[in-house]
Amino acid sequence: GHTSGDKLLTIVAQRLRSCLRKEDIAARLGGDEFVVVLNDLGSDGVTAKIQARRIFDEICYKLTEPMDIANRQIHITSSVGATLFPSDDAAAEDLLKQVDIAMYQAKEQGRNVLVMYEKDMQERVQNLITLEDDLRQALEQDQLLLHYQPQADHDGSVWGVEALVRWQHPRRGLLGPLEFIPFAEENNLIIPLGRWIVTAALRQLRAWEEMAATGTIPRVPIMAINISPREFAQTDFVSRFTHIVHEVGVAPGNIEIEITENLLIANIDDAVNKMRELSELGIKLAIDDFGTGYSSMRYLQKLHLHKIKIDRSFVIDISEHAGSTAVVEAIIAMGRSLCLEVVAEGVETAEQLQHLSQLGCVRYQGYFFSRPIKSDDLTSLLAKPSMAAYSTVTNETG
Ligand code: C2E
Ligand code: MG
Ligand code: MG
Repeated sequence: GHTSGDKLLTIVAQRLRSCLRKEDIAARLGGDEFVVVLNDLGSDGVTAKIQARRIFDEICYKLTEPMDIANRQIHITSSVGATLFPSDDAAAEDLLKQVDIAMYQAKEQGRNVLVMYEKDMQERVQNLITLEDDLRQALEQDQLLLHYQPQADHDGSVWGVEALVRWQHPRRGLLGPLEFIPFAEENNLIIPLGRWIVTAALRQLRAWEEMAATGTIPRVPIMAINISPREFAQTDFVSRFTHIVHEVGVAPGNIEIEITENLLIANIDDAVNKMRELSELGIKLAIDDFGTGYSSMRYLQKLHLHKIKIDRSFVIDISEHAGSTAVVEAIIAMGRSLCLEVVAEGVETAEQLQHLSQLGCVRYQGYFFSRPIKSDDLTSLLAKPSMAAYSTVTNETG
């Protein structure tokens, strides 16, 4: 409540004051943010930093002592950012901005931490701000695109494709998802971005459905779409997703959602419910990067799963590493007993393919067959009876 909050702020102010000297200044900026100005910390930067840390230790110690408020004992922690002055040409507002940047870094590092501002922090923050602006623009100006990577049988016939997002950046060229998806996840841009991806992938699927109906391609491939943890965690994820499915007008049975293992375990009950709803609609569900997380057999059984994708890291050294071979073998056996499809990711060589096949794997994805390619190139692949044609389209270009 307000009264207790005010009481807490007063105690913090008193304790701050008690750590400072007469010539220092303490002020409350607003909310739960305080500013302290420490004068005359020393004649050089090193001494000043040592002194600042010493005073911080004292402040931190005082603030962690419990507070008696409204008949309860309250415990708090603090995150502190600091910068030295006078420095270069920094004006008062710049100094405040600098400590703010440093404070956010302190928050990220955990509780009761002091972080001193450094020049490259600003650059990092600036880069992130630019990336955020750029990404918003990318959404508005159609700079995003999907590439598709086939999933195939041993003999090379394509039965599925995975949609993988790319960004045709106006200055930086073609960017892969790892350069912007993790960032988009952090600041919620993943929600509009995810919506764009799902819509674009389903429109492509619809085009392939029409081509299959007219005989241009022999069959409709299953369209696998990656869904990020943040997207999946949205309470209305299922209704938003199905809304797009209906709007675009595709058959739910041709759609597969890929989610990573750890996401499922983080909130298992919610995941079970959502996956049940999706699978009741006919939408298929795959666990991506399987083997890197912490799934237990009990969870796997509860989830309405269709497929597991063996992580590339096991496929890479399958020929040399007995350990990887054993893991792959175990995953395939488990998949079989749970009636799940198993796909090996990242197959790059004929040797790996051979090895996987000996272990009982029947479905594959990887550069050996094809890199992710543009939709038109993938259509040509689909039109061919089998993938003897792979080698002609192994370069991923914008
Ligand atoms: P992922 O879902 O596991 O996708 C497979 C990644 O492995 C893709 O990288 C693909 O290009 C790469 N790959 C496939 N075969 C091989 C191979 O034989 N060798 C090697 N070295 N790599 C191979 P990409 O496109 O850079 O995507 C990276 C990750 O970014 C994806 O991993 C996925 O987690 C995420 N991602 C990609 N597209 C989307 C998207 O539309 N939405 C979301 N939320 N995440 C996406
Ligand atoms: Mg995937
Ligand atoms: Mg994967």
